[in-house]
Formats: sequence, structure tokens, C-alpha cells
Amino acid sequence: MLQKLSLPRLNPSDSASTVAIDVLGAGVAGTWQALLLARAGYKVTLYERDSAAMTEGTSHWAGGMLAPWCESETAEPVIVRLGLRALALWREHVPDAAFNGSLVIAHARDRADFGRFARLTSHYERLDADGVGALEPSLAGRFAEGLFYKDEGHVEPRRVLPQLHARLAALGVEVRFGTAREPQHSAQDDGRIVIDCRGLGARDALPDLRGVKGEMILIETDEVELSRPVRLMHPRWPLYLIPREDHRFMLGATSIESEDDRVSLRSALELMSAAYTVHPAFGEARILDFGAGLRPAFADNLPRIAIQGRTITVNGLYRHGFLIAPALAELTVALVARGEIDNEVMRCT
Ligand SMILES: Cc1cc2nc3c(=O)[nH]c(=O)nc-3n(C[C@H](O)[C@H](O)[C@H](O)COP(=O)(O)OP(=O)(O)OC[C@H]3O[C@@H](n4cnc5c(N)ncnc54)[C@H](O)[C@@H]3O)c2cc1C
Repeated sequence: MLQKLSLPRLNPSDSASTVAIDVLGAGVAGTWQALLLARAGYKVTLYERDSAAMTEGTSHWAGGMLAPWCESETAEPVIVRLGLRALALWREHVPDAAFNGSLVIAHARDRADFGRFARLTSHYERLDADGVGALEPSLAGRFAEGLFYKDEGHVEPRRVLPQLHARLAALGVEVRFGTAREPQHSAQDDGRIVIDCRGLGARDALPDLRGVKGEMILIETDEVELSRPVRLMHPRWPLYLIPREDHRFMLGATSIESEDDRVSLRSALELMSAAYTVHPAFGEARILDFGAGLRPAFADNLPRIAIQGRTITVNGLYRHGFLIAPALAELTVALVARGEIDNEVMRCT
């Protein structure tokens, strides 16, 4: 699986502190790259064209679920492998991330899909109605069975990214918001390594990258309490409700082959109806925000680390950016530090 490669003009004996690295894009991919490279001792500068509020990138709209076993229903084994490693890295570097597991439920009419989900995934505990109620009292008496993936976690993207950016600054990383930077500018700057994590902003270099629309709604109610993401079987979307602070819930997410970044009436109706069927009190919830993010994806929906000279492109995180970004960053560090190549994820061009 692992091969060795020497990055051009990077002497493996160079000490990390003498190697300057520009990371482009401070979404979840670039943030984790900067964090693990800085922790490994490299001189990192992180460039982000958006302001520190980071409302433009895909990461702003994400659910932040760290759910490798649930995702294994549809995702390739490589996503599960990266996701499992990333869970450990989230635990290590963001100890206050929530690891309360995930709960999967279904209405009686969707029992066949529920059975299929159970067959295709692993590492869960089967719950009966009492078990569902004991785990999530707000759902007591509402669902006959559930699947509990106890080792999964979730983060709040709009909180965790600023938290990690502050950590980077404390580690001595220069974080430059409001500063667009193209790979060729850094590459011209002699001796620098470039880690290009511009998401869909990298389409100039990656013409085969596309955006897959995901719509979400942020709601608020104090009549329902959940302690973990709850996924509801749905004929069209992997629907979920994720608890946030202050009685808020993220309701998501559609997955549509479109680069229109507006929420359609149909999607809004489907998302909100689904929440209402999980608990009627959601019918009285206040809508705080809604929007759509475009997930950066290659044709095979798999992530890719492409190496071209001293430019390393990390992209195509699709619907798994929060799940896998730490593991991708660890692979990049292994490449820069030791020339290691992971054949499943890396391409030399
Ligand atoms: C509705 C929805 C729900 C999702 N839920 C989950 C989930 O629960 N779990 C999960 O793991 N994933 C989830 N995802 C997927 C996840 O959001 C993406 O995989 C991830 O955000 C991609 O991160 P990124 O850093 O590659 O891209 P981005 O977040 O888009 O970051 C790229 C950054 O690069 C910046 N940039 C662009 N050009 C330049 C330039 N020239 N110079 C400097 N900066 C530049 C952009 O401003 C942007 O901030 C979800 C996505 C959506 C849309």
C-alpha cells in the first residue's frame, strides 16, 4: 500500500522548521492540514480568501457528523478506513468534540430500508422502543426500534473551525483571512510547499471537480431535546437532525446533482416534514437559517491527494469532509516528512 517518494527539492534530512508550507483554503480540509503540519514543526501560513466568519465555503453548511459506520451504508471502504483514523485524531486534538454516538430510526413504512441499513453497516446496538426512549427521552414511544452507533461523534462546524483557527494562531501559524492565494504564486516563491485545499475554488486546476448540492435548515425549539445526531430512514435523502447548542438543531441534508446554491421549496418541505414526523413539536420550531452548500466531488466521489512537484492538492472530500479531513492531513504529513505515498488516496501527476 505505501510507496516512497521524494518531493522535488525537498531533502528528507531537512528539519521541519526550515520548510515553509502555504496551505490555501481554511475549510475543514485546509484547517486540519495546517494543524497537523504545524504540530509536526513546519512553518505554516494558512491563506483564506473569505473573512474569519467563513460563510462562503462548503464547511459552513455541514452537519459535522463523524459517522464512519453509518456512512458505510453507501461509502467505499476507503472512507471508512480514513474515517476511523480521523475519529481518533478528532478525539486527540478536539477533546470537547461530542462522542455520544448516532441513532438511526425509521417509521414503520420504512422498515425495509431500516433492515437494509442494518445489514450494510456494523458496530451498532439494536434498540427496541424502550431502548430508543431510554437513549433519547424526547423520542419515547415514537419509534419501535433503532440502531445505536455508540462510538460515532459530531462537531458543530461553525464553532469548531474558529476554535481550530485560534489553535493554529497559538501554534505560530500565520492565518491570513481575506487573502486569496493561487498555487502558482506560492510555488514561485522559492522553496515553499503548497497544500491546495481550495475546495470548489480549485476548479482552475481540477476541471473534473463538481459541486453536489446539499441543503440544510437550522431550527430552534426548547420542546425537544436530543443528545446525538438522529438519522431517519427516508426514501430520497439520508435525513438527519443534529443537536446544536441553545436548543438549535440542524436539519439536513439533500444531495442533488446541481450547482444551484439556493434551497428549493420542495427540499425545504421534505426536510421540514421529516422533522415534524420525528416529533410534532418540531412543527412549532423557529427557522433560524437555511442554505445550501456545494460538496466538492470528483466523478467517483472519492477524495484525492494529487502531487505535482511541490504542490499537493487535497480535494474531493464530497460528503465526508469532517469525517476524513484529519486522516487526509496525517497522510500529507507522512508524505512531506517521509515521502510516504498512500496508493488508495494519492496520485502523482
Ligand atoms: C448540507 C451539507 C451537510 C454536510 N454534512 C457533513 C457531515 O455531517 N459530515 C461530513 O464529514 N461532511 C459533511 N458535509 C461535507 C463537507 O461539508 C465537505 O466535505 C467539506 O466542507 C469540504 O471541505 P473543504 O475544506 O474541502 O472545502 P471548503 O469548506 O469549501 O473550503 C475551501 C475553502 O477555500 C477557500 N478558497 C477558495 N479559493 C481560495 C483562494 N484562491 N485562496 C484562499 N482561499 C480560497 C474558500 O473560501 C473555502 O473557505 C456536508 C456538506 C453539506 C453541503
